[in-house]
Amino acid sequence: MDDCIFCKIIREEIPSQRVLEDGEFIAIRDIAPKAPVHVLVMPREHLASLDEIGRWDGGRAEKLLHFTVAVAEAAGVRESGYRVIINVGPDAGQEVDHLHLHVLGGERLGGLA
Ligand code: 5GP
Ligand code: ZN
Repeated sequence: MDDCIFCKIIREEIPSQRVLEDGEFIAIRDIAPKAPVHVLVMPREHLASLDEIGRWDGGRAEKLLHFTVAVAEAAGVRESGYRVIINVGPDAGQEVDHLHLHVLGGERLGGLA
């Protein structure tokens, strides 16, 4: 997507701090971290949100979850614990319309769930 900020980051047209990447997914530091560790995990392919996951064939979503665990390891929070959040649509406050998972940790997290 030409005007998608995360697609621009993936194409390296906008700089980011990469934590981990492979052929399908990348993980970057959030520009406005809400915890000591705040990493965004996203597919290189543009999906507007989790709502479009039905476009993927079997196994790809599972790979994304395994990649997310590897991101937690790389970010140093796998043992201490972390939270994974996916905002979908307006009521969740989704700001960037490119599927991404937030990985939050590095301190005891409060919150809803
Ligand atoms: P959402 O609310 O869509 O789930 O989360 C979007 C996240 O992207 C926010 O936490 C915001 O700080 C982050 N973000 C927005 N623009 C940029 C950017 O240009 N670079 C990085 N690294 N993060 C961004
Ligand atoms: Zn995109």
